[in-house]
Amino acid sequence: MENVKKTCSTNQYFESETKEKKITEDSLVFAFIGNKLLLVDESIPLYNRVQELDIGYIKYIGKTNEISCFVLDINQEEESFPLGALVGVRQLYALLPEAQLRAAIYGFQLILWNRKTKFCGQCGSTTTENLAEVLVKSCPKCKAEYYPKISPSVIVAVIKDDKILLAQHKRITNGMYTVLAGFVNPGESLEECIHREIKEEAGIEVCNIRYFGSQPWPFPDSLMIGFIADFDKGEIKPDNEEITDLKWFKADEIPEWPDKVSIARSLIDSFIENNSQ
Ligand SMILES: [Zn+2]
Repeated sequence: MENVKKTCSTNQYFESETKEKKITEDSLVFAFIGNKLLLVDESIPLYNRVQELDIGYIKYIGKTNEISCFVLDINQEEESFPLGALVGVRQLYALLPEAQLRAAIYGFQLILWNRKTKFCGQCGSTTTENLAEVLVKSCPKCKAEYYPKISPSVIVAVIKDDKILLAQHKRITNGMYTVLAGFVNPGESLEECIHREIKEEAGIEVCNIRYFGSQPWPFPDSLMIGFIADFDKGEIKPDNEEITDLKWFKADEIPEWPDKVSIARSLIDSFIENNSQ
C-alpha cells in the first residue's frame, strides 16, 4: 500500500489555478463539512456523488492530472451527515496521495478564508468575491480588500558541533522533543524572528543562519519556514512558558520524534543523516 501511494505521488501533481470554471459531474470535489473533508469509498468523490447536498460555497481550485478540482463548503451538521466518512485535515496526511493532499490543504484554507471574511472587518458590510482570477474579497461600501491570510512561522534546528538542540513543549504531552519554532511578528524579518524566538525560548544566541525549506501547515494558516543555525553563545534555559525542557542531543540519542509529515521531522532527519557514523 505504501509503495502504491509513493508511485501515485510521483506521477501526479496538483496545479492550483484561479479562474472561472463551471463544475461538471466528473469534477473532483474536496467537500468540507465543518473542518472535516468528505471521503466516499475512502476516496475524494466526484461531483455527481454530492450534488444533492446543500452546498454553501463552491470554488474551482485547479487540476490534478487534467481533472478539474473544486472545493465545496457543505451546510450540514457533522453528526447527521448521511454520506461517506468525514476526516480531519490532520489525518489526511496519512490517507491521500500527495497531489490530492496539496489540493485538500489549499482548498481547506480557501474555505476558512471564505468563512472568516463574509463581512467587512472595517464597516460590517457583506463582502463580495467578484474576481475569478484573483483570490480577493472586497467590501462594496468602504472598498477594503481581504486576501487569504497566511501566517509565517520560523522553525529552526540549532546545531552545536555534533549535537542538535531539541525542546519539550508544554502543549505536547507525549514526551516528544522537537525543534524550536515561532510566529513572525509584524515588521520583523525572518532572521530577526529567529534571533528573538531562540533567545526567548532557549536563552541562547545563534549565528550562521541558512535556509532549509518550507511547508504550508494549514492549522489554520501557517507557512513554516525551516532554517538551520549554529549555536553562538549563552547557556540553554527553557522559558518555562512554552518550553518545559531543552537538551542537546547527538544523532543516536534523540528519544521521541515528531510526525513524518512535518518539516520538524525533516530537519531532524537531515541532522541525523549528516551526523551518523
Ligand atoms: Zn467595509
